[in-house]
Formats: sequence, C-alpha cells, structure tokens
Amino acid sequence: MYTSLLTDATIFEALIAIDDELATTARAGGCRHCVGRLHHSDYPRKPRGGPAALSARYDRRTSFCCARCRTRLTPPSVRFLGRRVYLGAVVVLACVLRYGPSPMRVTRVRELVGVSADTLRRWHHWWCRRFTQTAFWTAIRGRFARPVCEAALPRDLLEQFAGEPRAQVIALLRFLRPLTTTSAGTLGEGAC
Ligand SMILES: [Zn+2]
Repeated sequence: MYTSLLTDATIFEALIAIDDELATTARAGGCRHCVGRLHHSDYPRKPRGGPAALSARYDRRTSFCCARCRTRLTPPSVRFLGRRVYLGAVVVLACVLRYGPSPMRVTRVRELVGVSADTLRRWHHWWCRRFTQTAFWTAIRGRFARPVCEAALPRDLLEQFAGEPRAQVIALLRFLRPLTTTSAGTLGEGAC
C-alpha cells in the first residue's frame, strides 16, 4: 500500500502546497535579525526518487535572503528532508518498504526509486542511530500515547499518525519539518 505512493504524483503536488504555506508564514515573519524584507533566494535542486511526472517546482528549494543584512532564512519543508538529493517522502517510504516486517528486496526498491543498497543502509542507520540522537527527537519522543519503537523507524513513527497511507506520510513529513531548517543544524550539507 505504501508502494503506490512512490509513483503517485498527487501526493507530491500536495506537498508543494504545504511548502508554499510554510514559506508564506516564514516570509511574513520577516528577517530574524533586522527589519529588512525577505526576497527569494532559492536553492537549485535536482531531486531524485520521485515519479516521472514530478513538478518543476521540485527543481528549487525555497529560501529567502534579507534585502538589508543578507541573512538567509530557509523555511521548513515537507518536500526536502535536509539537503539530501532524494525527496523526503522517498527517504521515508523506501526505508519503510525495505525494513518493514515483510521487507521488499533491495532490487525492487532500486527499481522503484533508483536508490542503491548502500544508500538504503545509510538511511536506515540515520533513522535508527542519528535521528534518535537529535535534540528534536529527544524532546518529543515521550509525547506519543504509544511509545515509538526506535529500532523500527521510520515505520513505527509513520504508524503513529492516523489515516490512510497518503495522509500518514504527509503527517510524518509535517512532523519532521523542524529538522529541515538551517537553524536545526542536523541535516546539513553532506547528509546522506
Ligand atoms: Zn535582515
């Protein structure tokens, strides 16, 4: 059931709309250091792993720059998980499919999203070892009614959210968005 989401262009369109809201909110808050106005200064991206019909909107990560002090402000995102080249939804779904109770074969995951076995292993390591060490997760993990099994990330976290798989993935990406800002500092350049 999660498999079909990887090729479902509508979920990737929905994530654009959410990112637009997040960007509008961030921009309305203005520069964090002065009274300058924020102008677009987007990062070019060449995202991997999405459907063939992925919108050209995925070619840019929204970011702003203060017209006065030049401080950059990159809003949180549900499209991009840090600066990884693979889309956030792909980093979630590929791991869910590969490391779930009935794991999908690596070759099948590769067919779906073009990700190598090594990259899958790095993502799995990130979820189970590095994500769990972030200040974000440490602060929030105790707030779930049912404790999250950290060895079964990201699937067990995904299953904390209500609704059908599409709604769960969107809710999880929204939940993770604090990790995607530059201020969080946990998913900087070179993050796998
Ligand atoms: Zn400024």
